[in-house]
Order: sequence, then structure tokens, then C-alpha cells
Amino acid sequence: MRIVVLTGGIGGARFLTGVRAYARQVGAEVTAVVNVGDDVLLHGLKICPDLDSVMYTLGGGADRERGWGRAGETWTVKEELAAYGAEPTWFGLGDRDVATHLVRSSMLGAGYPLSAVTEALCARWEPGVRLLPATDDRLETHVVVSGADDGTTDTPDAQRAIHFQEWWVRHRGALPTHRFVFVGAEAAKPAAGVLDALAEADVVLLAPSNPVVSIAPILAVPGIRDALVAGTAPVIGISPIIGGAPVRGMADRCLAVLGVPCTAAGVGGLYGPRSGGGILDSWLVDTTDAGAEVPGLTVRAAPLWMTDEAATVTMVRTAMELR
Ligand code: GDP
Ligand code: CA
Repeated sequence: MRIVVLTGGIGGARFLTGVRAYARQVGAEVTAVVNVGDDVLLHGLKICPDLDSVMYTLGGGADRERGWGRAGETWTVKEELAAYGAEPTWFGLGDRDVATHLVRSSMLGAGYPLSAVTEALCARWEPGVRLLPATDDRLETHVVVSGADDGTTDTPDAQRAIHFQEWWVRHRGALPTHRFVFVGAEAAKPAAGVLDALAEADVVLLAPSNPVVSIAPILAVPGIRDALVAGTAPVIGISPIIGGAPVRGMADRCLAVLGVPCTAAGVGGLYGPRSGGGILDSWLVDTTDAGAEVPGLTVRAAPLWMTDEAATVTMVRTAMELR
């Protein structure tokens, strides 16, 4: 059996540990198609936060408490950059992490596509799951905001676009926000292997990732959404929203920008049923949200807290029963 998972960073990575364990039990192969919209070039380094979250988590090298980056991290490079006054200073660039970005940046500079670079990095981490960037082309999520750079709203009318990382990490999403733009998406092509993986999939799972800034940028790559809709594999989504709130992160702020209710039903409706121009066949919500209805979709309730791998495997098994 072949399982394809569309995923963002931290929530998706946690989900993938459960998918990997399930796949080992039933002898399935897993391919993760990972969001690249968060990718950013800083200090000359190409940083791919979601790919790295997934790679480090599945490879056993992630910092569990912080939730992102490397375990046992130190911050000398960041301090030295700050001593030079090198902007930006708000991005958490750890010393161990820098080595990943150096290898990636050199390989990209030598002409390798991101998918090949990711495969090379994974030779060290052995994530047990095939990791593919959604695209090898440049695709960055930018956020159209108003208000001054320091977060005040002295110039409320002036709109400007900032990189998603600046909106998220520096401003904690707390600027008047108008919309998200996936820069480069129209011209982007699915990375090598993505369309084949979708065509050969027996099931496609949407991880309980942020629907607006993790899953939507993947679907914005021309060809990926069509492959889901046209494919024979059932598409099953897992809600990142439990009891009207994200489990962690700021999906509530992101959904508000789109005018979508921050509920399990709201996100299910945003993805929509395949029969109604959407992408889903089934939607898994938490037991707290039992009774949530999305017209056109089979909705099932099960515990969706990924407290540990065992709980996550159980959740994956329930999702797989919806095929
Ligand atoms: P990011 O790219 O690092 O922001 O990570 P993702 O987009 O992959 O995942 C973020 C989402 O994961 C958030 O919207 C959370 O609500 C969701 N999430 C985190 N932990 C859990 C959990 O235990 N259960 C569920 N259902 N969702 C979770
Ligand atoms: Ca992300």
C-alpha cells in the first residue's frame, strides 16, 4: 500500500511519526509532500522550516520542548550575527541548524534541485518516510499587512507585503492582515516525484497542519490539486482544530484572515468535498467536535490529540478506516 501525506512542519511531523509506525505495522510505503511556502533566504542561507521540522522529528534530532529546530542547540552564530547588527535578528538560527542550511545552500548553488538536496540530507536522518518538497521552484508565502514596521498602526492605510516568517515569528501574526499570497506559485511545477506519488497513491492524508499556510501553499502548485481531485485514491483530512481552537500555533489568526470559522467544520468546509469542487472525501474531527457537519463529506469523530506515538497511530488507523 502507498500512503501520501500532505504536510506542514511541526503538527505534520508529529502526525507523520504515527503514519510511519502504522505503515511499519501494515507494510505500507509513505511519501510526505511538504510545504515550502515558509522557506526563506537569510544571511545567504536557504532555510526550509517545514522540511527541517519533519526531517529532524522523524530522524530523532528535533528539540521536543521548543517544538522546532535541533535538540542540544547552541546559539553562537546568532549572537555573532547580532553583534554585527546583521538583520534580521528575530529569526532563531541555531548553530546545529546552520550546518543543515550550509549543506543545502551549497548544493542548491551547485545546481541540485531542492528535492535532490532533501534526499541527500535525509541520507543522514533516515526519516523512514520519503520526503518531497511540494515544488523545486521558488514559492514563498507573503502576507499583505498594514501598520508600521514596529507593529504600531500609525499608517493603517498603507499596505505592504512581508514574508510569512516575518509576520509569524517577528510579529506573531499581530498586524492588521489582509491576505496571504503564494509568490511564485503560478509558475511553480510539482517537484520531481510528486505527481507520480499522487498517481500511485492508495490513499492521501491531509495532516492536521495549518490549512491556510501549510496545506494551501502545497495545493497552490499547479497540478497538485488537480491530481488529488482526478486521482482514484480517497483523500482523508484530519482536523488541526479541536474544540474551536488550534492545538498550538496561530491557525486561528490565519483562518480569521480568510473569514473562515476556527472550527473543525469550518476547516472541513474550507477544503470542501470532492463532489462539490473541493478535495476531500472524508474528514476526521476530535470527539469534542462530534456532530460537526460538512455538507458532502463523511465526518467521523475520534480522539485527535497527538500526545504520544501510540495515540497518533490510533488516530491514523481511524483515518485509514475512512477509506
Ligand atoms: P507548522 O508548519 O510548524 O506550523 O506545522 P503544521 O502546519 O504542520 O501544524 C500546525 C497545526 O498542527 C496547528 O494548526 C495545530 O493546531 C496542529 N496540531 C498540533 N498538535 C496537534 C494535535 O495534537 N492534534 C491535532 N489535531 N492538531 C494538532
Ligand atoms: Ca510551517
